[in-house]
Amino acid sequence: MKSDKLNKPVTYIKGVGPLKGDLLQKEFNIFTVYDLLFNFPFRYVDKSIVTSIKDVSYTDAVQIKGNIISKQIVKGQRQSRLTATIKDGSGFIELVWFKGVNYIEKYLDLNSEYLAYGKVNNFKGKITMAHPELEKVTGKPLNATFEPVYHNTEKLSRLGFDGKARRQIMRTILGSLSTNDLPETLPKYLMDNLKLIPKLEALKQIHFPTSFDELDKAKNRIKFEEVFYFQLRMLFNKHKRRLKFNGHEFSTIGKYFNKFYTEKLPFELTGAQKRVIKEIRSDLGSSTQMNRLLQGDVGSGKTMVGLLSMLIALDNGYQSVLMAPTEILAQQHFHSISESVEGLGVRVAFLSGSVKGKTRKEVLHHLEQGNIHILIGTHAVLEDHVRFSNLGLSIIDEQHRFGVMQRSRLWMKSKENKPPHILVMTATPIPRTLAMTVYGDLDVSIIDELPPGRKDIKTIHKTEKHRPQVIEFFHKEIAKGRQIYIVYPLIEESEKLDLANLQEGYERLLEYFPRPEFQISVVHGRMKPADKEKEMQRFVKGQTQIMVATTVIEVGVNVPNASVMAIENTERFGLSQLHQLRGRVGRGSEQSYCILLSGYKLSKEAKTRIRTMVETNDGFKIAEADLKLRGPGDIEGTRQSGVKEFNLFNVVLDQGILNTGRHIAETILDNDPRLEHTQNSLLKSRLSILDSGQRDWGRIS
Ligand code: ADP
Ligand code: MG
Repeated sequence: MKSDKLNKPVTYIKGVGPLKGDLLQKEFNIFTVYDLLFNFPFRYVDKSIVTSIKDVSYTDAVQIKGNIISKQIVKGQRQSRLTATIKDGSGFIELVWFKGVNYIEKYLDLNSEYLAYGKVNNFKGKITMAHPELEKVTGKPLNATFEPVYHNTEKLSRLGFDGKARRQIMRTILGSLSTNDLPETLPKYLMDNLKLIPKLEALKQIHFPTSFDELDKAKNRIKFEEVFYFQLRMLFNKHKRRLKFNGHEFSTIGKYFNKFYTEKLPFELTGAQKRVIKEIRSDLGSSTQMNRLLQGDVGSGKTMVGLLSMLIALDNGYQSVLMAPTEILAQQHFHSISESVEGLGVRVAFLSGSVKGKTRKEVLHHLEQGNIHILIGTHAVLEDHVRFSNLGLSIIDEQHRFGVMQRSRLWMKSKENKPPHILVMTATPIPRTLAMTVYGDLDVSIIDELPPGRKDIKTIHKTEKHRPQVIEFFHKEIAKGRQIYIVYPLIEESEKLDLANLQEGYERLLEYFPRPEFQISVVHGRMKPADKEKEMQRFVKGQTQIMVATTVIEVGVNVPNASVMAIENTERFGLSQLHQLRGRVGRGSEQSYCILLSGYKLSKEAKTRIRTMVETNDGFKIAEADLKLRGPGDIEGTRQSGVKEFNLFNVVLDQGILNTGRHIAETILDNDPRLEHTQNSLLKSRLSILDSGQRDWGRIS
């Protein structure tokens, strides 16, 4: 438990009044002394390094040491300014203050030696340092060689809460703490086995390291704790859930499944699809609730697995829901699934925000009466007034587009205290390590095989000067009867501009592909759902040869006859997005192409992204590259997952620690699933504290 001392509001600290307290809250989410303690420095300055004045650079802050040889207060119209010249053996610099002028002037003794620390500017040919941190050299050796640097804001500095003040406060806090205030949070046997340093010591080192070695040890200790408790909590809760909730037992495979399988299945399932369906069947047939992640690259046939699972639910008298992240995709699932179960007596309905009035009322009514077997829709299906008669299976397609919250909301949709089985599907393969963190509480099935006859998509990078060539290529493909996607970026902040881009591109295309011989669909996010759907359907039916679109088509859209995916301004897309887009083609048996168009000038990162796309079609490799480029916080689906909330642990850089933490959590739970052994009592009490709703994951106390 946290002691009272740490729970006190920051304003309790001497020198932190209500104004500063307010700002700390607003800008850094720091409320208590404890928060301040866990707001770690983001870098350290080695105070033992003194730069000669002749060697100062203008980029980083530097420390110089010299004598003050002159000082003067210059009266200005509105404010005065203090300047002083500091000189070492190599040259001199002017120090400048605009605030605290009189006070600092008194502190400056002429011809005494000072250390000045700050950023150096070249002001109209004069080298200056404004508002340096100043320390008189007293002959005593400096006690801390590494000084912590904290994130700060101008506003806080102006109130006097600058780096120096902050360090002073941190020293006072840390100096006054004992293990009574901040008890150890890892059991002794773990610390001994792993040679981890005590928590309080780690915190002291993190704020005021005595060497880089010690700092490393301290960071490792904190990182381990963060990742270990994250894993332990997830695995423990998974066990608990298993014990607490029974699943609906789907014991029979009946007429719906069998009839569909023998009479309606449009193709032979791939080996991977068969294996995954078996895994799902065995989950559904046992009395525990399924929580399964289905990973499979774009085009690997996840929808069919979802449909077959829903038919099993139906055979056992239960309803299912399939939720997709966009209206277009939900519509498409609705159409294709309705079509493929035609004649079997399966009642499928659609629900999204655009279903209104009487139709909506009817859907809701029939759903609650149990007349609807399968509901397909957008996140609108999560709304409270959407009630099922007996929901047995929830499927979330393209899970990475949703958050963990939505997943848990589907749990609430069952009547008895029995949550539905959950299957989440994602085409953005996430690296194993990240999966362990984001989806660590799920069982995982993987479709690692594409339907037969697929040719690898050829990916080509082209710049503006190749446009005529690209247009000619489009013509050829269209002449062969193929269809083409042309995608424009759409980023919210510049939505208007992007829309103009798309319009312009569309008009230019009209010149190369004149009507009536050629027809072009346009789909973007600003359109009404009904119009979008109409345009989309024209393309699906083959009435248009080209689809000009924004990323609204990124996810899940399926037009097997489309053979070219051209992407405009490729440099503005992320890797996983590009891979998703590319996955829209290569769905039929024809050779397909992905053409990445970009400007000439590309950032290093954009080049890496494009090169990765050209080199590989393998979603897992792309995911690894993406993780390296962007870090974990930006990977879709990781928001709300807690990954971003770690204080020090980094999924990309600290994989070794992650593996250790996971392994140890597993071993402990294998031996003591309910954490009842005395040596684990600390673990158990920590978990219940964590479960009781702390604000974020990094704050593990
Ligand atoms: P994703 O995994 O990206 O959701 P889909 O479920 O949309 O992929 O399937 C992609 C395409 O492959 C669809 O046209 C689907 O009908 C087809 N498909 C799925 N499984 C097979 C299979 N076993 N054999 C042939 N085609 C298949
Ligand atoms: Mg899909």
